[in-house]
Amino acid sequence: MAAISVRYTQNFIGGEWRVPESGRTRPNINPADVSDHVGDFAESGGPDVDNAVGAAAEAFPAWKALGPVKRAEFLRTAERLIEERAEDFARAINREQGKLLPEARGEVKRALAIIDFTAGEARRLNGVTTPAEEPRTLSYTFRTPLGVVGLITPWNFPLAIPMWKVAPALLSGCTAVFKPSPFTPLSAALLTEVFADAGVPAGVLNLVQGDIAAGEALVANPQVAGISFTGSLPVGLKIHEGGAPRLMRSQLELGGKNAVLVLADADLDKAVRAAVFGAFGQAGQRCSATSRVVVDIRVKEVFLAKLVEAVSALRPGLDVCPVVNEQRLDACLSAITRAQETGAKVACGGYRAALPQGYYVQPTVLRDVPWDSEIAQEEIFGPVLSVVDCDGFDDAMRISNSVRYGMSGTIFTSDMAKAFEALDRFEAGMLHVNRPGVGAYAHLPHMGSKLSQFGPPECSPQVWDFYTEWRSACISW
Ligand code: NAD
Repeated sequence: MAAISVRYTQNFIGGEWRVPESGRTRPNINPADVSDHVGDFAESGGPDVDNAVGAAAEAFPAWKALGPVKRAEFLRTAERLIEERAEDFARAINREQGKLLPEARGEVKRALAIIDFTAGEARRLNGVTTPAEEPRTLSYTFRTPLGVVGLITPWNFPLAIPMWKVAPALLSGCTAVFKPSPFTPLSAALLTEVFADAGVPAGVLNLVQGDIAAGEALVANPQVAGISFTGSLPVGLKIHEGGAPRLMRSQLELGGKNAVLVLADADLDKAVRAAVFGAFGQAGQRCSATSRVVVDIRVKEVFLAKLVEAVSALRPGLDVCPVVNEQRLDACLSAITRAQETGAKVACGGYRAALPQGYYVQPTVLRDVPWDSEIAQEEIFGPVLSVVDCDGFDDAMRISNSVRYGMSGTIFTSDMAKAFEALDRFEAGMLHVNRPGVGAYAHLPHMGSKLSQFGPPECSPQVWDFYTEWRSACISW
C-alpha cells in the first residue's frame, strides 16, 4: 500500500501541522489486512490539547464576526474539494476502518449531504421578533455561537460523524478542536486538510490526534464551552460528569440495542432483507444497527429459515467487512459464547471467519435468545444478530422497550394501525416502518432516547441548539 504523507500523522494546530509535544505515536493498522500498516499517528496529551484550545480561542472573535452567510462560503468550497477527493476519502476509510469500498463511498456521499444541508442553513439561522410589553419597543431573539467546542468522535463513521459536528460548529461561528478516534486518524487528517485548503482561517479548526489522555484534557480545559461526543455510554458519562462542575454543555450520541419487530402479518421476505442489511452492513458497527429481531412465534420458524439462508450466503471480505480491531473481534466471540450459556442457540456463524489476515467474524444469527439475557440487552457492535420470540404486538413492544438504550426502532406489519401505534410506543429516537432500521437523512435529527442520547440532536436544524446560545434583546425608542 502507498505510504501516506507525514503531515497526516501530525496534529493541526493554529493552521500548522505539528508533531505532538510528547513525540509519541501509535500505529494504525488495516483491520482487513493486519500486515498493512497505515502509519504512526500522533499520540497527543494535555499540552497539545491546550495549544489547540488556545489557538481556537484566539480565532473565535474574528470567525464569529464574519456571520453565517460568509462562513457558509468556506463550507461550499470544502464541499467541492471533498467531491474532488471523494475516492481518496473512500479509500482511506476502507483502509483504516475496514468497511467495504462501496460502504465507504456511501459514507462520503453522506458527508457531502451533511455539509450541503449545513451550508444551506446559513440563511436560516434566525430568531423571532416578539410582542413587547411597552409601546415603541422592539423585542427579538437571536443566536450567538457557543464559543470553543470540543468534537470527540468514534471510528465507525470516520468521515460522516466528524462532518456532522465540524460543519455545524463552523457554520454557527464556533471554533473547534477535533479529537477523532485513534483507530481512524487518517480520515480525520484528510477532512481537516480540506477545511484548511478551503481557506478556513488558522485556529478555527484544530485537529488533535490521540485517545483518552487527549479526550480528557479537552473536557478539563475551562476554555472549552461544550463537547459534542459520539461514542460509548461509559465514555459519554465520564465526559458529562467531567464537565458538570463548570456547567459545560454536552451533546452525547451513545450506544444502541436496536430491535426490528416482525409481526405475524409482516412481509417476511422484506423483513429478512431489512434485518440482513441492518445487522450485517458495516459488520453491525453502526449505532442504529439491527441487533435484535423480535419475531412473533406464529411466523418464527418460517422467518428464521429465510433469515439463516440469507445470512449463511454472506461472504466475509466480499459482502461483510471485518470488525475494527482485535478487541472488537474478541468481544464479539466471547459475547456469542456467553449467550449460549444463557440458552441462546447458534443458528449460523458463531466463529472467527477463515480470513486470518483480518478481524472477521462469521455473520452470526442466535435464536431462542431470552429477551432479558445479556446479549439481548447490551450492545455488541459486530455482525451478531439475536432473534427473540414474542407473542403478539404488545409483547413485541414490551421486549423492544426493555433495553436501556433507545436509538432506533423498526416494525414490519401490514396493519397500519399497529404501525402507527408502534411509532407512538417505541422508546427510541429514529423510527422505521416496513424498511431497514438504519440510514438517516442530513435534514432529519440524528438522535436517540433513554441512554442513547443526551442534549440536542445532531444533523437537522435542531443541531443549532448545541452550537449556539440564545439571546433576547429589547430596544426602546
Ligand atoms: P469510545 O467511547 O470508546 O470512544 C469514542 C471517542 O472517545 C474516541 O475518540 C476516544 O478516543 C474518546 N475517548 C475515550 N475515552 C475518553 C475519555 N475518558 N474522555 C474523553 N474522550 C475519550 O467509542 P468507540 O469504540 O470509538 O465507538 C463505538 C461506540 O460509539 C459504540 O458504543 C456506538 O454505539 C457509539 N456510536 C454512537 C453513535 C450515535 O450516533 N449515537 C454513532 C456511532 C457510534
